[in-house]
Amino acid sequence: MTIQVPPVGFVSAGTLEEAARLVSDPAERAVLIAGGTDLVPKLKRRQTAPITLVSLADIEAMHGIAITDDGSCVIGALTTLAEIADSSDVPPVLATAASTVASPQIRNSATIGGNLCVDTRCNYIDMPLTWRQARGHCLKDGGDTCWVAPASNRCWAISSTDLAPVAIALNATVRLVSSRGERVVPAEVLYRSDGIDYLTKTPDEILVDITIPAHTTRNSFQKLRRRGSIDFALLSVACAVDLDTEGTCTSARIVVGGIASAPVSATDAETFLAGKQLTPEVIEEASEIASKPVRAQDNTDTGQRYRKWMISVHVAKALNEAAAERA
Ligand SMILES: Cc1cc2nc3c(=O)[nH]c(=O)nc-3n(C[C@H](O)[C@H](O)[C@H](O)COP(=O)(O)OP(=O)(O)OC[C@H]3O[C@@H](n4cnc5c(N)ncnc54)[C@H](O)[C@@H]3O)c2cc1C
Repeated sequence: MTIQVPPVGFVSAGTLEEAARLVSDPAERAVLIAGGTDLVPKLKRRQTAPITLVSLADIEAMHGIAITDDGSCVIGALTTLAEIADSSDVPPVLATAASTVASPQIRNSATIGGNLCVDTRCNYIDMPLTWRQARGHCLKDGGDTCWVAPASNRCWAISSTDLAPVAIALNATVRLVSSRGERVVPAEVLYRSDGIDYLTKTPDEILVDITIPAHTTRNSFQKLRRRGSIDFALLSVACAVDLDTEGTCTSARIVVGGIASAPVSATDAETFLAGKQLTPEVIEEASEIASKPVRAQDNTDTGQRYRKWMISVHVAKALNEAAAERA
């Protein structure tokens, strides 16, 4: 059975201003489309029903990577994950994360803007319409029950972007533009722990670019998934640590993705690491502290207890790799 994209209008905006105007008109029920690698399957599964798709692909100013005078790396939202994976201008940890997303074909279309805004996922929503009708619609699908946690009044769908944990760990900011103006926010502030309303940006705001400050940290990205390609992360970990000349940690960022409705900053573990040498014992304790507060839900591949346990395993891997990296 092939499931086709339902009839939908399509406009390719030539400029950012035009895109902002089109997406601000409530009558158009317009949705932005970049590479379409996440949105098109959702249209096929009837998870969203826009009247018009507003393509950003022809907006030249939103493509490409530039290094500014202060050493910051500015990445246009339409830069593809393949371009990022191959770039020597972006922090290597971002290139690594981009190179793990999906497959080469998908990375050739998928963009960093689409990745940072990608919808949350769950076993009960990422199904064809007929399956969802037979099972009963969940909260994210317009129903009144979360099938993952029926007593809960919120949606627990999972943040599935691999690049967000890296962006947050590297203290990146994102620029959001709408017909009402422009604002720049830390990448961390873009996310809200709610499976339905998972972004703090409004639907008419366009993510135009991401800026990563010049970095001196040692970094690592780790990803757990069933297969080494194609599969979404069961969890991902990005870390950025600063060590002084004596090898003492002066600051640490540890961000876990794929485990909750927003990327999770392991703030207790970050605080624990400050002022300590990254010995095997310290890394082991920090990784246990990182996994402690996380309550994994039963809404993706593999069991909850396994995924929670794997957080500490992958935080330890990330810290060991970062500590071994040359600054
Ligand atoms: C088989 C498969 C495997 C995948 N594996 C992974 C994986 O391992 N890791 C991972 O992170 N992702 C994965 N994905 C999800 C997806 O392909 C990527 O996240 C991709 O980067 C999305 O980018 P896109 O340009 O295709 O976004 P689109 O599908 O075009 O858009 C995604 C969402 O972002 C919004 N959007 C897009 N651009 C902007 C913008 N500039 N401003 C505001 N909103 C915008 C759209 O409205 C839409 O809601 C996978 C997808 C598939 C089909």
